[in-house]
Amino acid sequence: MAEWQNWAGNITCQPREIVRPRDEAEIVEALARAETQDLSVRVAGSGHSFTPLVATDGMLFDLSLLQGIARLEPENSRAWVRAGTRLADLGEPFHAAGLAMQNLGDVDVQALGGALGTGTHGTGHTLPNLSARVSGLRILRADGELRSVRDDTDPEGLRAARVSLGALGIITAARIELVPAYRLHERVERPKLDDVLATLDERIAAARHFEFFWYPKADRVEAKSLDLTDRQDEPDRKGERIGWSHRILPSLREQRFTEMEYAVPAELGRECFLAVRDRIRARHPDVVWPVEYRTLRSDDAWLSTAHERETVTISVHQDGRLPFEPFFADVEPIFAEFAGRPHWGKVHTLARAQLAGVVPGLSRFERLRAEWDPRGRFLNPHLRTLFSEA
Ligand SMILES: Cc1cc2nc3c(=O)[nH]c(=O)nc-3n(C[C@H](O)[C@H](O)[C@H](O)COP(=O)(O)OP(=O)(O)OC[C@H]3O[C@@H](n4cnc5c(N)ncnc54)[C@H](O)[C@@H]3O)c2cc1C
Repeated sequence: MAEWQNWAGNITCQPREIVRPRDEAEIVEALARAETQDLSVRVAGSGHSFTPLVATDGMLFDLSLLQGIARLEPENSRAWVRAGTRLADLGEPFHAAGLAMQNLGDVDVQALGGALGTGTHGTGHTLPNLSARVSGLRILRADGELRSVRDDTDPEGLRAARVSLGALGIITAARIELVPAYRLHERVERPKLDDVLATLDERIAAARHFEFFWYPKADRVEAKSLDLTDRQDEPDRKGERIGWSHRILPSLREQRFTEMEYAVPAELGRECFLAVRDRIRARHPDVVWPVEYRTLRSDDAWLSTAHERETVTISVHQDGRLPFEPFFADVEPIFAEFAGRPHWGKVHTLARAQLAGVVPGLSRFERLRAEWDPRGRFLNPHLRTLFSEA
């Protein structure tokens, strides 16, 4: 029996079969086999989710052979990209065509299909999550039918499928809307927390990307802002860098950790952070890993954590070698007080009943899911806690 494990090491599973298709026809063939053998089906990206989204004892698709840019359209500033492509492999070819992704998350090791699947985002009050820049998707449903959803032909289908946790089908390619290649000037400072909080709105408004990390045990802050620049030189000041966006935005995260992240209304972000800070100071002062504060522009995907609401995301982290459950469980109720929506790929304990109160697009998504996959072929135990099956 095969074994699969996520990056953080907190989720493992033993699928009956791991399928590595080279093209859509091989996916269709394997889906028919899953149907005959009555196997549940899940797709893995690069395993960077902390929740058991990928776990299955049935058929697991690994799309690592479905790589690369299928069609680059520089004249339209967009590209069709195969879903198994790692984001890190897109920066250079896009750059060679004078183009770039509008934003990236903290890392770029995710597979495209996986990054879209959970609504992966970076930071920047004018910048939505990565899926909001997708204008077309090719999806293979459980019955093997290929659906092409595009903004011009099926905008509703696209709003459903952009962030869909692999619950509607297997995404084989996505059309990404790009922007002209851009350079960024990064500045990292270590201000006092009170100073950051007193000037938070100004800091957010002043930068293309702003985020800060507060390290509880050390009571130290790292504030990062990035802005567009045409400068070609290397800054000689400590804490500053200049370069093309795809080289500056992603960090290298080598130490394993676990993470919980909630998206709260932007206007409540500061207050929510203060409540989290106070809880950690009072009950978890030994936590070394940071609380991270980012901004996210609203978008219209049904399951997006920023669905029709300007957003602040707040996340807590724990060392990958330490238990995270007691700490996260003690902080999670605070997010509920601020109408928080959980990041689908990061630790949370919300089930359908609670999600229905904070995810406005949930029932619409459920209806489409039931229509596209009536037998729940793409559901695993975790997804069954999130969505009704009817
Ligand atoms: C070190 C680290 C840093 C991170 N930084 C950020 C960050 O800055 N911002 C942020 O928002 N998140 C961040 N995350 C979370 C991460 O971006 C998401 O969990 C993302 O979904 C992981 O992508 P993946 O390729 O590993 O997908 P997986 O975790 O393998 O899969 C995610 C989901 O997508 C589905 N899926 C994958 N491929 C397909 C496909 N082709 N068709 C249909 N469904 C598919 C899977 O079934 C699953 O439901 C981080 C995680 C880690 C470990």
